Amino acid sequence: MADGTMRAWSVVRPGPVEEGALRLVEKPVPVPADDELLVRVRACGVCRTDLHVAEGDLPVRRVGVTPGHEVVGEVAGAGAAVRGFVPGDRVGVAWLRHTDGSCAYCRRGAENLCARSAYTGWHADGGYAEYTTVPAAFAYRLPEDVSDLALAPLLCAGIIGHRALRRAALPPGGRLGLYGFGGSAHLCAQVAIAEGATVHVMTRGADARRLALELGAASAQDAYARPPEALNSAILFAPVGDLVPVALRALDRGGTLAVAGIHLTDTPPLHYETELFYEKQLRSVTSNTREDGREFLTLAARHGVHATTHPYPLSRATEALSDLKAGRFDGAAVLVNDLG
Ligand SMILES: [Zn+2]
Ligand SMILES: [Zn+2]
Repeated sequence: MADGTMRAWSVVRPGPVEEGALRLVEKPVPVPADDELLVRVRACGVCRTDLHVAEGDLPVRRVGVTPGHEVVGEVAGAGAAVRGFVPGDRVGVAWLRHTDGSCAYCRRGAENLCARSAYTGWHADGGYAEYTTVPAAFAYRLPEDVSDLALAPLLCAGIIGHRALRRAALPPGGRLGLYGFGGSAHLCAQVAIAEGATVHVMTRGADARRLALELGAASAQDAYARPPEALNSAILFAPVGDLVPVALRALDRGGTLAVAGIHLTDTPPLHYETELFYEKQLRSVTSNTREDGREFLTLAARHGVHATTHPYPLSRATEALSDLKAGRFDGAAVLVNDLG
């Protein structure tokens, strides 16, 4: 950064990642605003949302944006108004990076619903770079005894899965069903099991079912199969609307189903008697609050929650995204900064 420039990936032409949507470019090292930290990136997780940003599935919010919102880095500078951070502090930068703090949702603790929210790696440059910035109020303190590599995937997949778990209103010691078992679900399962839940996994992948059992799930079966006992709570991670009635039927009386995804294919008509009556509840999950993030990072450290990770050098980010797109690995890809 001596000459004030850095290398960063930029979405130069949204489209297929194999066709050069992202290019490694020189950018000025960002100058933190008064309330922001300058963060030197150490590692950055690769999330499917990065693929949606690069390929234009999400509308462009910033031309030439640098993706990446699972950043583990160290404070390299700060704006004049920042208090409480010193250079070298390890911090996490996640998806949610701004809310207005003043609307009705923010004031009642539901900042995830703020209409004036902004997101890292979409509205603002993220972590596929040597440096990034984050408003200090949205930076996470990170547990000390966990590696950069292990922490990065927790910052999106982990936090979102945790909010879904809370939305599913699982009673202490309850029976939880997970439909789909990818990045978020396998982190959420670890917290639920550590907190005393009995977890049943319904997913089509044989490898995923094996992983579920290794992590302590009580049973694992096909996505459409009925779990061996009625569920107090369920979370639908697979973006498959056909599974909504399947999961609702698996609930015990008074049970709750939380739909965790941003996207869901259309749900078929619901049968009132078997799928909603007896006070079953169907809920969606939208983004997360900072409180969700802090709570999850604390629990993850306490319970030793870990993601299966695949490291790639940051200089090969497009390869990681292509591999994610093609489903060439299980678990989470993490880019390790080899740019400087
Ligand atoms: Zn993400
Ligand atoms: Zn707001």
